[in-house]
Amino acid sequence: MIFDDFTIKTLIRPVNDFPKPGVVFRDITPLFQSPRALRMVIDSLIQRYVEADFSHVGAMDARGFLIGSILAYELNKPLVLFRKQGKLPADVLSQGYQTEYGEAFLEAHADSLCEGDKVLIVDDLIATGGTLLAAVQLIKRMGAGIHEAAAIIDLPELGGSRRLQDMGIPTYSLTAFA
Ligand code: AMP
Repeated sequence: MIFDDFTIKTLIRPVNDFPKPGVVFRDITPLFQSPRALRMVIDSLIQRYVEADFSHVGAMDARGFLIGSILAYELNKPLVLFRKQGKLPADVLSQGYQTEYGEAFLEAHADSLCEGDKVLIVDDLIATGGTLLAAVQLIKRMGAGIHEAAAIIDLPELGGSRRLQDMGIPTYSLTAFA
């Protein structure tokens, strides 16, 4: 199915002042209620990564799990979860970072990656890039590398995709809102 940027954009609902005043929240729940749109998103990502050389899919809590788990299944790769603080049960590595909304910690199971692994990291949206950059730090602390950072949406004005690229992390998004 050919990717239709207009259709995808119409299915991403802007919600003003959520979760705090001044933020325009880009709500992807309408997109997930459209099987055709979801297929368009997933098919585009699969097309991009089916021949790519990476070992794991790394998915960001929580909406990154939605696309990360489908990609891991379709591309037959192990899935690593990057979770908000206090959610993972076994030994974790923890990385602090700044978000659009304040300070947070991202965690991964300490035994989830090894030296030589190469991870495709995925989230629904790149804003400041803090979440994906925290995942990059956790991956590097485990001795592994990053193939690319992928998202459905980029918000370039918040500078995250630029920050990732400046750190040497190739970045890909399906659509963007200025
Ligand atoms: P950041 O770490 O600043 O790049 O923020 C990206 C993460 O926060 C993603 O997991 C998004 O789901 C969420 N997020 C940040 N800003 C927004 C926004 N304006 N609309 C929807 N989700 C957002």
